[in-house]
Amino acid sequence: MTIKPDMTTDGVLTADTHLIQSFADLNLLKQDGARTVIVGAEGSMVRDSEGNELIDGIGGLWCVNVGHGRKEIIDAIAQQLNQLDFYSTFYNFTHPTAAALAEKIASLAPGPLNKVYFANSGSVANDSAIRILHHYNNRLGRPKKKKILSRIGAYHGSTHLSIAMTTPAYSDGWDHAEGLVHHLKSPHFWREGDGMTEAEFCDSLVQDLKDTIENIGAENIATFIAEPVQGAGGVVMAPDGYHRRMAAVCEDYDIKYIADEVVTAFGRLGHFFASQDIFGYTPDIITTAKGLTSGYQPLSATIVSDEIHEVISRPGGMFLHGMTYSGHPAAAAAGLANIALMEKEQIPERVRTTGKLFENTLKGLSDLHIVGEVRGSHFMMGIEFVKDKATKQGFAPEDAIGLKLARAAQKRGLIARPLGNILILSPTLILTEQQIGQIGNILRDSIEEVT
Ligand code: PLP
Repeated sequence: MTIKPDMTTDGVLTADTHLIQSFADLNLLKQDGARTVIVGAEGSMVRDSEGNELIDGIGGLWCVNVGHGRKEIIDAIAQQLNQLDFYSTFYNFTHPTAAALAEKIASLAPGPLNKVYFANSGSVANDSAIRILHHYNNRLGRPKKKKILSRIGAYHGSTHLSIAMTTPAYSDGWDHAEGLVHHLKSPHFWREGDGMTEAEFCDSLVQDLKDTIENIGAENIATFIAEPVQGAGGVVMAPDGYHRRMAAVCEDYDIKYIADEVVTAFGRLGHFFASQDIFGYTPDIITTAKGLTSGYQPLSATIVSDEIHEVISRPGGMFLHGMTYSGHPAAAAAGLANIALMEKEQIPERVRTTGKLFENTLKGLSDLHIVGEVRGSHFMMGIEFVKDKATKQGFAPEDAIGLKLARAAQKRGLIARPLGNILILSPTLILTEQQIGQIGNILRDSIEEVT
């Protein structure tokens, strides 16, 4: 299951001493060297270098929505590369596949969100949204309207700008774009709502937004960015009605709402987009990535409203923003084939049943005494572990509870993602009922072993 840097696997990796791993303890890796080497994948399963078959409980990294090894997508990529390997979307150049995918995305996105800017990662999709809004305000003669409201617990990426919008814990010891971002209160009722009803908690969050706007001044604030469900901050659902109310306040103060749907779009919660279809609000910008190609190619989209586009395309300015690979033909082909597959197999619709079963199966673990809260929706779930259920006291970092549980689960054939005291489960959207049951059993056995 794990290898040492100098071990030979089946020809895939011999000495992993040159690759810098993401979000890893590099010192620990240097000393211990143990890595899980994934060498193959099919459906909802992956295979490691020692021949173990594991359920991919994290869908690659919240992204392999239609499952691994889908020939329809692989063939579409190959066909595209044979026809046109690369051309950019700079200046007045374009190509049919990027144009077709933009049109398809516009047809799926909420009403006025009809213009699509492609990049290669969720981080850059969010950076692009901010740059576009800053330019939009410059065009409108409001050069001071630049600040960003985000939230404690948010994850928006790890570029210099997107990490500044991410919750501060993610940049411990690292720098980021200073002075631009203010973090509003966490919307996590279970942790933060003591002594309040959920409705009162929601009122307090809306009030926090209003107070912050009054303090900073709406004339200085460009945008509020929020994930419909916070993901890498621990899978946090906001209270009922929260997003609709936050969006209404933003509209009153002329502040644009960015819905970061990097994880929540493309079926994970049972719809192509979650903001309008599930939570009932229409943002001004949606950013998305991951499930857009199910991870077969790196691609992200920043989808902006007609109104924003009208302003930034007025005479007298240029769109001075671009990455060489924006709308890369192979990535666009993957996106089109992935969406076609989702529509053909009615994957979002299926998720409304199987995802609900997954959610309920995990919620069934709540009786275990170290399970504090099982939260999330459909195929986006988190389990938080506590030392003491009554006081919600968490485990100490040195207990490494998430890591121990992830290891116990992996030993039993399931990959889950540890995040401090939390385990995250974000599997492919094609899990069978039998695999869902298996995941429930593995998690129960693993928790019992570690307790
Ligand atoms: N936004 C959200 C909500 C995410 O979960 C992520 C990644 O997990 C990102 C943005 C950043 O995306 P990427 O890792 O593709 O840059």
